[in-house]
Amino acid sequence: METIIILGSGPAGLTAAIYAARAGLKPLVVEGMHPGGQLTDTTDIENFPGFAEPLGGTDLMDRMHRQAERLGVRFMLDEAGAVRLAADDALPPAERVHEVTLAMAGDKLETRALIIATGASARYLGLPSEKLLIGHGVSGCATCDGAFFRGQAVAVVGGGDTALEDALYLSRLAASVTIIHRRDAFRASKIMADRVLANPAITVCWDHVVEEVLDPAANTVTGVRVRHVKTGAVSLLPVQGLFIAIGHTPNTAMVKDGLELDPNGYIVTDQTRTRVPGVFAAGDVQDHRYRQAVTAAGSGCMAALEAERYIGTLGV
Ligand code: NDP
Repeated sequence: METIIILGSGPAGLTAAIYAARAGLKPLVVEGMHPGGQLTDTTDIENFPGFAEPLGGTDLMDRMHRQAERLGVRFMLDEAGAVRLAADDALPPAERVHEVTLAMAGDKLETRALIIATGASARYLGLPSEKLLIGHGVSGCATCDGAFFRGQAVAVVGGGDTALEDALYLSRLAASVTIIHRRDAFRASKIMADRVLANPAITVCWDHVVEEVLDPAANTVTGVRVRHVKTGAVSLLPVQGLFIAIGHTPNTAMVKDGLELDPNGYIVTDQTRTRVPGVFAAGDVQDHRYRQAVTAAGSGCMAALEAERYIGTLGV
């Protein structure tokens, strides 16, 4: 029987682990199949407080991992295939045990408290050239990487609130921003659409899809080839940065039957507490609004403190 299991090893999971370890809870982290999470897809980070010089996303996560290890956190390279939560209110708290089945090993782990920090995965278009250039001009996060494109031409793919928010953010940094959207109307809220359409630094390339990102051979983005969905006409858009903002998928499949999720699949929380006592959620898996490493770390801290309080009430 574990006291606390943490699912996920991004900034939320590792911060939760650091706090839980320092509270003497001997946490076990099930790292997931993408240890370090989304940040490991980012090249330079310059908005995580405490580092005067930019550092790589993998480097930051490596440091958090070593910090957690030094404090005695145990790690398991596997992911939760299924999670069975003790949601029965009739059970006395000390008898409530949550069960995690590991996807690869198949083992069943039991725990009194569980922190879910499995994050969200940015959706990408699925083009081979796009994949090759992630971190080399293709990004899934404007707030993370926008500053590297100061004074350059960039494009944003998508027509939802994220794409428009990204375009507005980038318009303050980049020389020009082109939104590439596959339809002739935005999905985003009217207020965002009005702001974008009134912004002289932003152009909208309606009814277009990206066919290819150039140029993998140069290992950097030099432009995108786009196609008009109605006429089939192909054209080249010279840009140095391409931001994909076509939505995120929260990694909540294993708890979709046990926890309350919002219509987009994110775990509904009240200050990291879920509706099930002893089960907490932190980071992007419960936050589609801020999605920052530092906010994820902050909510990981909150979840660990809440879990510590919960475990203290069990009298075990
Ligand atoms: P959405 O699902 O709302 O929008 C995704 C956009 O990407 C759509 O315009 C969609 O096109 C387009 N898209 C999806 N797949 C592809 C593809 N394969 N190729 C090209 N385009 C594609 O996601 P968001 O991340 O924008 O928003 C998620 C939620 O978060 C929403 O509820 C949103 O309102 C909310 N949000 C709120 C914010 C705020 O309040 N400040 C900020 C950001 C998000 P199509 O329209 O044709 O389907």
